[in-house]
Amino acid sequence: MREIELKNDRGLSRIFLGGSIEELPRLVDVEKTVVITDTNVDRLYGEKISDFRRIVIEPGEINKSLDTVKGIYEELMDFEADRSTKIVGIGGGVVCDIAGFVASTYLRGLFFAFVPTTLLAQVDAAVGGKNGVNFFGYKNLIGTINQPDFVLCDFNLLKTLTPGELKNGFAEAIKHGLIGDYDLLSFMEKERTSIISLKEYGIERIVHDSLKLKTSIVAEDEREGGKRRILNFGHTIGHALEKTLQISHGEAVSLGMAFEAYLSEIKGYIEREDVERIYGILKGYGLPVHFDGKADTIIDAIRKDKKREGDYIYAILLHRLGEASIERIKLNEIEGLINDMCKFE
Ligand code: ADP
Ligand code: ZN
Repeated sequence: MREIELKNDRGLSRIFLGGSIEELPRLVDVEKTVVITDTNVDRLYGEKISDFRRIVIEPGEINKSLDTVKGIYEELMDFEADRSTKIVGIGGGVVCDIAGFVASTYLRGLFFAFVPTTLLAQVDAAVGGKNGVNFFGYKNLIGTINQPDFVLCDFNLLKTLTPGELKNGFAEAIKHGLIGDYDLLSFMEKERTSIISLKEYGIERIVHDSLKLKTSIVAEDEREGGKRRILNFGHTIGHALEKTLQISHGEAVSLGMAFEAYLSEIKGYIEREDVERIYGILKGYGLPVHFDGKADTIIDAIRKDKKREGDYIYAILLHRLGEASIERIKLNEIEGLINDMCKFE
């Protein structure tokens, strides 16, 4: 089992890679711990954690709400949780977000940890410290920034994920390669077959390198004043597309990255062959690179997105594969380019 450490305001978060969920009782006291999970994860893995008291929520982004949080507070009261109670979120991004938020607010903050069970949560959501819920249709409007005490990544849990769920994680790992780790990117290019078939050395490497990169960026800029923004590569436009085209997060981020790569070429920062290479990698993981919709609808969605600032958006541009920076771009500058990215069948 490998370990990465992340320094933060409160001390240190430890990230264990390649451990097993069954080792959890060695990391936290069973008597003092409450597990928060969802019905799917509980059905699949509940048996492995049957010694723990459990709060089981409904799965899905729709349930990442204050109503769910309220239900959990009530159950914690029933359990007579006190300052010494530890919370462990076991699940995907939704469970980790909710568990982190509940633990950060109940009794002004309890010890908490995560066992992320999706690839997306392992490469991304479980570290960084953002915990929140959606409110009135706005994503993560209510939340806290607080790092978990530890994160335990058990790669065996990924075997029950759908191909679509895995793609969400691959998109985010490719993002990490593109913005800050060329070696990770080449590894994902070369070892695609092993990674897609969840060979341990492949998954271990992409989770490790992703978290290493993310933790180092977060350590420099926990509250997103500057550098942390490069983690939004593919997401500015991605979020708008996710809503409009009803596609998955991974597909939306892939399209967003394909677009920002193209924009980087237009700006003269990278070459056409770099862009083609990026498209090849994304497509290799079954991720899309062309928008499947009308340019006007997409431009409209970007205009409506809350990440917009007046007539500008913040784009993340590549200067080479493995290096990115943030730049303010005028919306009408990109409208024509969006046309180029649209595919009509
Ligand atoms: P993410 O944001 O990480 O994709 P979600 O919490 O939305 O996470 O999880 C996506 C879906 O996958 C949910 O329906 C969840 O119950 C389910 N899920 C989570 N972990 C696993 C797993 N290891 N195997 C199968 N399904 C899982
Ligand atoms: Zn994302």
